Amino acid sequence: MSFPVAGRPSNEVIADLAAKRITDVRWEDGRTFGMVYDGGPEVREVAERAASMYLHENALNTFAFPSLREIQSEVVGWTASLLNGPDGTAGFLTSGGTESILCAVKAARERAKAERGVTAPEIVLAESAHAAFHKAAHLFGLTVRKASVRPDWTADVQAMAELVNENTALVVGSAPQYPQGVMDDIEGIAALAQSVDANCHVDACMGGYFVPFAERLGRPVAPWDFRVPGVTSMSADIHKLGYAPKGVSVVLHRSKELRKYQTFVFDDWLGGFYASPNLQGTRSGLPMAAAWAVIQHLGMEGYVELTRSVLDNADRMRDGIAEIDGLRVLGDGRFHLVAMAADPASEVALDVFALGDALQVDGWYHDRQKPPDSLHSTVSNSNTGVIDDYLADLRSAVAEVGVARSTDRSTSYSTID
Ligand SMILES: *Cc1c(COP(=O)(O)O)cnc(C)c1O
Repeated sequence: MSFPVAGRPSNEVIADLAAKRITDVRWEDGRTFGMVYDGGPEVREVAERAASMYLHENALNTFAFPSLREIQSEVVGWTASLLNGPDGTAGFLTSGGTESILCAVKAARERAKAERGVTAPEIVLAESAHAAFHKAAHLFGLTVRKASVRPDWTADVQAMAELVNENTALVVGSAPQYPQGVMDDIEGIAALAQSVDANCHVDACMGGYFVPFAERLGRPVAPWDFRVPGVTSMSADIHKLGYAPKGVSVVLHRSKELRKYQTFVFDDWLGGFYASPNLQGTRSGLPMAAAWAVIQHLGMEGYVELTRSVLDNADRMRDGIAEIDGLRVLGDGRFHLVAMAADPASEVALDVFALGDALQVDGWYHDRQKPPDSLHSTVSNSNTGVIDDYLADLRSAVAEVGVARSTDRSTSYSTID
């Protein structure tokens, strides 16, 4: 592929881009689960207007763009109050859940080294914890100690207790975990971290902008956020159920002292004193401003109303799936994540990957995961109004698939070449 020589008029260029998108999933139809979180036309509009204002701004230098400094501190402060952070809770905006988790792992490693002299740091987590913790361990030289989950898919806290030792820098809980959408026992997990003075990170990338609103709607949940003593850091993605466009998440620490282990400062460069809060250098102001605008536009009341529809969507999906012979929902998730698998108690030996292929023909897009083979749905307001159609198509797809098997057993969801 050779570099384009002559430039072309913008209309032509944009028309070519539009043509490229023909085979992309059509998330506007509501048939895609996860990936795009649609708060509705008004939310999209306010996000787009804020985005076009901040498309060119650079958040690397908040002395040049003091508005971005304010935007960051307000969004972080609002998120801290949502997650019941005590006075002094401090954090930063990042580009996404992965970066928030990388920052939290780095902070835990630095703290363990500085305060306890740990030179071979370890992370204790359950097999349900997000892959980003393994990525962080790989990048930052920590060893992962991985425990199994219990039959209900929650982290096995007793199994984790056996892995905690004097090298433990971080103990991880998820609220909720991604694969089956269940909440870990955060009180138990935080107590493990406290027993060795390690950090405890609650990964609320999925739940941070959902569970607080579900609680306000009366959905019961055991303490899971900064209300639990011993929780030292949390992550919450605004670009998921916060309905902001991609590229924005929050990482929070219980205090500024804990947050200081996250930042990087370097004073021995010809370019001058270099300080950075997270992993990026040059950094777009767009996602930060769009998140600010979406939160202001929706407010607590707007989020609670969106959450009401999402819970209704997810509950109806769970009930509908449970009624279909051959299928079952994994775990007792009460929020917006739904994983379905073949029901071993049924005579119908269904291959859910073949089911996923059949649903895709009707335009429904799920992520695939294993073990066990399952179809995963992150339900959101994008899916409001389509659940009856979905369940009807699901019932006919199950009948159509019968005992057929899909030859494609892969579960990967991104390309690396
Ligand atoms: C999405 C997610 C992450 C990773 O976030 P990205 O924004 O995809 O980088 C981490 N943990 C959980 C529970 C998630 O759902």
